[in-house]
Amino acid sequence: MSPHILILGGTTEARRLAAALAARPGLRVTTSLAGRVTRPGELVGEVRTGGFGGAEGLAAWLRTHRVDALIDATHPFAARITANALRAAADTGTPLVVLRRPGWQPGPNDRWYDVGSLTEAAEALPALGRRVFLSTGRLGLAAFAHLTELAFVVRSVEPPEPPLPPDLHVVLDRGPFDRVAETELLRAHRIDVLVTKDSGGEATAPKLAAARELGLPVVVVRRPEPPSGLPLAGDVAGVLEWLDTRGL
Ligand code: NAP
Repeated sequence: MSPHILILGGTTEARRLAAALAARPGLRVTTSLAGRVTRPGELVGEVRTGGFGGAEGLAAWLRTHRVDALIDATHPFAARITANALRAAADTGTPLVVLRRPGWQPGPNDRWYDVGSLTEAAEALPALGRRVFLSTGRLGLAAFAHLTELAFVVRSVEPPEPPLPPDLHVVLDRGPFDRVAETELLRAHRIDVLVTKDSGGEATAPKLAAARELGLPVVVVRRPEPPSGLPLAGDVAGVLEWLDTRGL
C-alpha cells in the first residue's frame, strides 16, 4: 500500500507542499482543511474538511486512515490544531513535522510596533493614526469595535464577522499581493497605520514594503509561543528533506 501523508492545511505553504508531494510517485496525500472559508482555492491530492474532534479525534483519524507521516502546515496563529497534532502524533507514534514559515523582521527604515494580541494592537492605534488598514483576518475584529473615532479598511478572504467598528470598509481579496498594488491601495484609502499578524511568508509581505515606501507605522501582532519540542521545518524543501530521511 502507498505511504499515506496527512497535511494539516489552510496556508499557501500547505498548498505548495501538496503539489510538491503529488510529483513524488507512490505517495497518497490528503490535505485537511478546517472548513472556515467557502472557496479554499486549488488543491492537489485528496482533501478532507472539518474539525477532527480534538486530539483524540485526530489520533483516531490517523489510525483509521493508516497515516504514515503527519505534517502540520497550519497558520502560525492556529495554536490549537498544532497542540492537537503534537498530542495525536505522540499518542499514535506517527512521525510529525511542523512546517512553520519564519516570522517577519523589520528593515532599517521600518516603524514597527510589536504587540502580543489584537487587544494590544487596538490599544496602540489611537496614538498612531486615524485611518487604519487591518489585515489580521476576518475573526477577532471585536477587539477594534470600540474604536468609534477611527476609520478601518479591513481586507479578508471572506466577510468579517460582527461585532465590528462602525466606520468600516471591507476589501475581499486573497493573496498573493504585489507591492505596487498594495502601495496604491494604501494611498487610495489614505491609510495612516497598518495592523498585521506576524504571519511570515512572501504572499502577504508586499504590504510591509508598501508601508515602508509610504513611511507608515505597522503594528505587528507577534506569534503565540509554539509548544516546546516541536519538530520544525522552515519551508517546503525542509519538509521534503524530512520525508527523505524517513524513506517516504
Ligand atoms: P485553531 O484555533 O488552531 O483550531 C481550532 C480548531 O479548528 C481545531 O481544534 C480543529 O478542530 C479545527 N482545525 C483547525 N485547523 C484544521 C485543519 N487544518 N483541519 C481540520 N481541522 C482543523 O485554528 P484557527 O486559527 O481557527 O485556524 C483554522 C484554519 O485556518 C487553520 O487550518 C489555519 O491553517 C487556517 N488559517 C488560520 C489563520 C489564523 O490567523 N489563525 C490565518 C490563515 C489561515 P478539532 O479540534 O475539532 O479537530
